[in-house]
Amino acid sequence: MKIPDRPEYQLETRLVHEGQHRTAFGETSEALFLTQGFVYESAESAENRFLNEEPGYSYTRYSNPTITMFEERIASLEGAEAAQATATGMAAVTVAMMGQVQAGDHVVAARALFGSCRWIVEDLFPRFGVGCTLVDGPDLDAWRRAVRPETKAFLLETPSNPSLEIIDIAGVAKIAHDAGATLTVDNVFGTPLWQKPLELGADCVVYSATKHIDGQGRCLGGVILASTEFIETKVQQFLRMTGPSISPFNAWVLLKGLETLSLRVERQTETAGFLADSLHDHPKVRRLTYPGRPDHPQADLIKRQMRGGSTMIALDVKNGKAGAFRFMNALKLIRISNNLGDAKSLVTHPATTTHQRFTPEQRGEMGITDGLVRFSVGLEHRDDLLADLIQALDRV
Ligand SMILES: *Cc1c(COP(=O)(O)O)cnc(C)c1O
Repeated sequence: MKIPDRPEYQLETRLVHEGQHRTAFGETSEALFLTQGFVYESAESAENRFLNEEPGYSYTRYSNPTITMFEERIASLEGAEAAQATATGMAAVTVAMMGQVQAGDHVVAARALFGSCRWIVEDLFPRFGVGCTLVDGPDLDAWRRAVRPETKAFLLETPSNPSLEIIDIAGVAKIAHDAGATLTVDNVFGTPLWQKPLELGADCVVYSATKHIDGQGRCLGGVILASTEFIETKVQQFLRMTGPSISPFNAWVLLKGLETLSLRVERQTETAGFLADSLHDHPKVRRLTYPGRPDHPQADLIKRQMRGGSTMIALDVKNGKAGAFRFMNALKLIRISNNLGDAKSLVTHPATTTHQRFTPEQRGEMGITDGLVRFSVGLEHRDDLLADLIQALDRV
């Protein structure tokens, strides 16, 4: 897709100002339009708006000025022509993928997907006659081999959750396009700051805005970013008719979250890099994976494809599940939660929570060992975090 010309202001400036539509009251902060509907000056005006011959809003399931402000701001951040906000990250993935296929079609997806995303392609799609092949994401030949004449869409997530493996977005995009298919990237772990899938050739990017975009653990939301044509033909009608629309209140929270996104993600990444370096050689750590360290197995690809590291660290603790549980239970400041991207540092044990429904073999294929702890780095002082991690590792 075509990327719009680079706007004249830098990213940090656009995160504060882009997309604001002031009302006649001249408010400083963006207005929250907590309204279901809109009234018309006349019956003719209502008719024309339904005919799409008059600009304006009609019903918040379709669109709303606060939601528009969020969409315009994040489209500017992503470098996308258009955006469609959704109620949750899963609504974004479901709408983006279902909007592209019909019975008889086939999709190819990376095996190491967020649990619910994998359920959509692996369990839900076949019910509607859409075939799915799961592949080992980093293996480009596997994507090539999975293509069929009826393949319409590819889906991947990189860095992957929770093992922080990297997939070559440009490489997979080329295979998709050669096959006449599109590529959708779930960019939650990449963050809009450090990874630009559209510039690397992807056709569509989806976010759970619940994560870094809110960044303070308050509300759910999602967004789909793509060309205007993609949003208008594949996404908009599907969303408007089926209804997974975002609340204007949540859109407003996320819009304000964008103002501080770069500050938060930069600091969280800096702290994550410091903690990864500090813990890498700890005797209780079997293996530490961090996409900002030169010893990451795909460091070259990371350099080509990402502008920064990550706010996430994958820690394989010694002694399997028992070691991981002892470590997590000994943490005093860092909390146990399945969420990520929050101002508060959080740890998750994927094998027993987010990826519990998979067999040990399936978990093995996704790099999820029994000792693996996923660590989402927050905004606390790095010395407090390091002290907490070390005292807890000492209990393993
Ligand atoms: C959290 C998450 C989702 C789902 O987002 P929700 O807002 O919880 O619906 C999808 N993909 C990834 C990678 C996630 O981390």
